[in-house]
Amino acid sequence: MKYVSTRGEAPVLAFDDVLLAGLARDGGLYVPESWPQFSAAEIAGWKDLSYVDLAIQVITPFVGGAIAAPDLRRIIADAYSHFDDPNVAPLKDLGRGEYLLELFHGPTLAFKDVAMQFLGPLFDHVLAERGQRICIAGATSGDTGSAAIEACKGRDNIDIFILYPHGRVSDVQRRQMTTVDAANVHTIALEGTFDDCQDAVKALFNDMAFRDRVNLSAVNSINWARIVAQIVYYFWAALKVGGPVTKVNFAVPTGNFGNVFAGYAAHRMGLPVNQFIVGSNANDILTRFFESGTMKMGQVVPTISPSMDIQVSSNFERLLFELFGRDGARVTQALTGFRETGGFAVDADVLAVAREIFDGARFTDDQTRILIDAHYVATRELLDPHTAVGLSAGRARRKDTTLPLIALATAHPAKFPDAVEAATGERPDLPAHMAGLFERDEHINILPNDVAAVRSFIKDHTTSGEGIRASGGAAA
Ligand SMILES: *Cc1c(COP(=O)(O)O)cnc(C)c1O
Repeated sequence: MKYVSTRGEAPVLAFDDVLLAGLARDGGLYVPESWPQFSAAEIAGWKDLSYVDLAIQVITPFVGGAIAAPDLRRIIADAYSHFDDPNVAPLKDLGRGEYLLELFHGPTLAFKDVAMQFLGPLFDHVLAERGQRICIAGATSGDTGSAAIEACKGRDNIDIFILYPHGRVSDVQRRQMTTVDAANVHTIALEGTFDDCQDAVKALFNDMAFRDRVNLSAVNSINWARIVAQIVYYFWAALKVGGPVTKVNFAVPTGNFGNVFAGYAAHRMGLPVNQFIVGSNANDILTRFFESGTMKMGQVVPTISPSMDIQVSSNFERLLFELFGRDGARVTQALTGFRETGGFAVDADVLAVAREIFDGARFTDDQTRILIDAHYVATRELLDPHTAVGLSAGRARRKDTTLPLIALATAHPAKFPDAVEAATGERPDLPAHMAGLFERDEHINILPNDVAAVRSFIKDHTTSGEGIRASGGAAA
């Protein structure tokens, strides 16, 4: 399996190179040259597999020989041994054909762990084989950062720098990042929004001299290996409710479009899906796109579902590439226009293709709190605000109620205790393994919203890239 860039101008790479590259050198995102295909009979044959065995089936074609089969098996088994449910992603029946897919049983209580726990041992393996070190830079709206830090802390071949928007993540999210005691972990509180953090990271990747000097790598959902890990649970959940014989609907609370794109990938690989329903908070750029075909950037508004407080959904570029018939030049043109004018529009025929399977709905914080409370009253179960937005969207836009609706529960309610308590009067408890979180010391580095400041902070704190300089490589 080879990978091509959505902008069509970067070298074609194998899986392990894509893993380390993160963003493509033409500014695009890597996608598989073609989608692996599974027949309905093959998919049906996976019905009784464990999560790990299913993951091996789904992930293997993407790796395409870049990692030996026994190593891949060990990496995947390692990844999912750190979840507190033996099924990794248990499915809860809500009645009326509605299901909640619980993706928050990993170490940091959000679905990001499903991919990140895979990425940690994967990086270790590839770097050890090559004798390389990397410097990871990532932007987080809260959950990616803690999941990435948890997956990378203490690993010999990695330095990790995580940028989060200062004052705009929850206390639990911040403390999960800033209380980790590991010499290779650095958190940066940027005085800006999540989009500013993401822009700063993109700017670092576009600075080729810097990128080569520190061996820069990414753990954001632009990293293809994360999408690959997320594809697995779409097959997993569908198989539990009658797929692939029955078509299913997925409701996905969406920010950067990584999670729902993984679902779309599963669909392209042969999984029968009726609808992907995107849930938005007040930052509803995606919902507006699916309504109008126009992508128009707005101001980021802080909400009670902060992991979706995003106006630029990086992974949308991967869908655009498919909608534009895999024409990299068209993608480049649209996204250059987006950067310059804050908007772009697609033709009616392109929108119609997208709308065959995608829909979206937005919910205010008040609406979200009302749903969390109603759900609590009815079931005595607490929902986190992101999950509540997704479930609401699914209910609002599900066209065929005879087909199951699988709503992705992307975070544990205890990750957003203030919002959940405000909605229900009930404060969710942190799981036992996180009990001491509020007593631990924090390490906080506040930096201005300025790429140069971030670059020099990383230069001063990374030991990665020294090997390159010593061997007379890309010294800058
Ligand atoms: C990251 C995140 C989302 C959004 O996922 P994307 O892949 O960015 O669309 C939704 N809910 C929670 C809890 C998250 O952490």
